[in-house]
Amino acid sequence: MDSSSLLGQLIEAFRCLPGVGPKSAQRMAFHLLERDREGGVQLSSVLQAAMERIGRCSVCRDLTEEEVCRICANDRRDSSLLCVVESPSDVLAIEQATGFQGRYFVLMGRLSPLDGVGPAELGLDELASRLRDNPPEEMIIATNPTVEGEATAYYLQRMAQKSGVGVSRISHGVPLGGELEFTDQSTIAHAFSSRQLVAEK
Ligand code: ZN
Repeated sequence: MDSSSLLGQLIEAFRCLPGVGPKSAQRMAFHLLERDREGGVQLSSVLQAAMERIGRCSVCRDLTEEEVCRICANDRRDSSLLCVVESPSDVLAIEQATGFQGRYFVLMGRLSPLDGVGPAELGLDELASRLRDNPPEEMIIATNPTVEGEATAYYLQRMAQKSGVGVSRISHGVPLGGELEFTDQSTIAHAFSSRQLVAEK
């Protein structure tokens, strides 16, 4: 395939998606060109708008097209509970699986010094100010049970304790090495409701 042709560029562009190799990229490009041009145009316009307009919530760092996301803007959410997760997909998983009515903080990653991800990249300064200025009764740590997720959880726990905030962790049922977003809803619901208190307020 001539990579300078438009077709070549289209195939190459699909490869930015996770898990998409040359073969799948080709299949997607041909599918749109041969069978679904309307879908392709729709995809490109929504993609363009989303990339331009979706940013981060100034309070919780979750993805949003507003300055403040819907959850943070909702006065009825319980400010005494703050759940810390790794990614926006974890917020979605918890919202869908549990009746959690508290608030969130989204790290957008996990501590990974070798990849250059430290406390600053995860917005932990913002989290520290939030714990100081608007402390919850309980901070629920819902990082993934991977090695890096555990290290991040430990760091968060120390932060909360320093600020005099109670800490709990979800752990039960989420399989070790598993990712929250790929865990089924009843498991997440159970993990959430049976969370363990790590430190008293
Ligand atoms: Zn928010």
